[in-house]
Amino acid sequence: MLTLYNTLTKKKQEFKPLHGNEVGLYTCGPTVYDYAHIGNLRTYLFEDILKRTLFANGYAIKHVMNITDVGHLTSDADEGEDKMEKGSKREGKSAWDIAKFYTGAFRQNLRDLNITEPDIWCRATDHIPEQIDWIKKLEEKGFTYRTSDGIYFDTSKFPNYGALSGQKLTDLKEGARVEKNREKHNPTDFALWKFSPKGEKRQMEWDSPWGKGFPGWHIECSTMSVKYLGETFDIHCGGIDHIPTHHTNEIAQAEAVTGKPLAQFWVHGEFLVLKEKRMGKSEGNLITIQTLKDKGYDPLAYRLLCLGTHYRQKLTFSWEALDSAQRTLDNLYALTAGLGKPGTILATYEKKFIAAVNDDLNTPKGLAVVWDLLKSSEPAESKKATLLKFDEVLGLKLAGAQPIVIPDTIKKISQERQAKRDVKDWQSADALRGQIETAGFSVDDTPAGSVIKKLRK
Ligand code: AMP
Ligand code: ZN
Repeated sequence: MLTLYNTLTKKKQEFKPLHGNEVGLYTCGPTVYDYAHIGNLRTYLFEDILKRTLFANGYAIKHVMNITDVGHLTSDADEGEDKMEKGSKREGKSAWDIAKFYTGAFRQNLRDLNITEPDIWCRATDHIPEQIDWIKKLEEKGFTYRTSDGIYFDTSKFPNYGALSGQKLTDLKEGARVEKNREKHNPTDFALWKFSPKGEKRQMEWDSPWGKGFPGWHIECSTMSVKYLGETFDIHCGGIDHIPTHHTNEIAQAEAVTGKPLAQFWVHGEFLVLKEKRMGKSEGNLITIQTLKDKGYDPLAYRLLCLGTHYRQKLTFSWEALDSAQRTLDNLYALTAGLGKPGTILATYEKKFIAAVNDDLNTPKGLAVVWDLLKSSEPAESKKATLLKFDEVLGLKLAGAQPIVIPDTIKKISQERQAKRDVKDWQSADALRGQIETAGFSVDDTPAGSVIKKLRK
């Protein structure tokens, strides 16, 4: 039985698809105006674990991800610049070229982290007529009003507004800071369509019944998710920052049009944070996959680091933690390669592993099963087959783990070192470790025994 924490009901619930065996999954995609940082990628990693767990339970999946290439303003309150136009100014390229370049960079990030791609990618700019249609429907149903800078959704007309975050409209009104946009009827109202500023030609703008302009950010997700997955689909995901505004607004728009719940499950991943402060472009501490590669890390070490913390827990990033994840990954590769050819899967371990990930994607518990298996006295070929099975969910590319050829001389020194350790002669043991390292190898003492590896360059 697969259980998932549903933000909408605020409890763990058994997951069953709405229609037969196929799961409709929508995950909010990147705004392609810059490189994704490792925080963003933590969210895409958790969504990948969700997908792989659904596969492990025998479900088929239709996964849709949007590419936000217009309309996402620098402030969530529909103020500020369009992020794409901002990227364009920064780099002296057209907004369209910026979108193309960073979409490619994002897909490379997914490959580096062994994240499975969605079945359908959809760009906001490829769905302008559909978004205009939706806004027309909202207008016909009386949910919109016009201000000097756009068409807005009136959140007070949607009785259940804020249910996802558990906030009531009245609380939101009282808690809101002084509104910049005095024409808005309620602080939570949001733009469906923004007009191009008078006398200014935007790179991305379209004609509409209300005037030249561009869609607000939230409308693309309601429109495209329903277009590809139907009016009510199984699971909608994103990072927790999407709960109070983006997803709350997606729900309001979609349910105002269809009168049906947009998704059965809303699943959100917690943030990756830095020890000192938040990670952000303005803070100048943006870590990307390229940063990790430049420092000599395997991006999959970052994947393993994320698997070590439950997706609903904050994960504090540090280089020490990544070092440790890299060592663990190296050990895992060395141990897996040493197991030879795969034999039969061990059903007891498989059951334990599936039970762990089926419990709201508890990957730390799943990793504990990996180490239990490696420490066990089961035959090597069965361990290998079982590990490869686990890796269908973990996605650490264990099948490609290369057997390392360790020269006999090094193995002998390692045995001597073990003998010295057994009699607690640490000084001699350390000297022997020094010899191993000078020869270009390393030795790690793991719960499963000493592991010798080629040193990383
Ligand atoms: P954006 O491109 O800003 O829309 O963000 C892409 C995804 O990354 C969204 O699902 C966000 O919720 C998520 N996200 C943003 N910052 C973080 C972070 N520090 N940790 C985890 N997820 C994040
Ligand atoms: Zn979205």
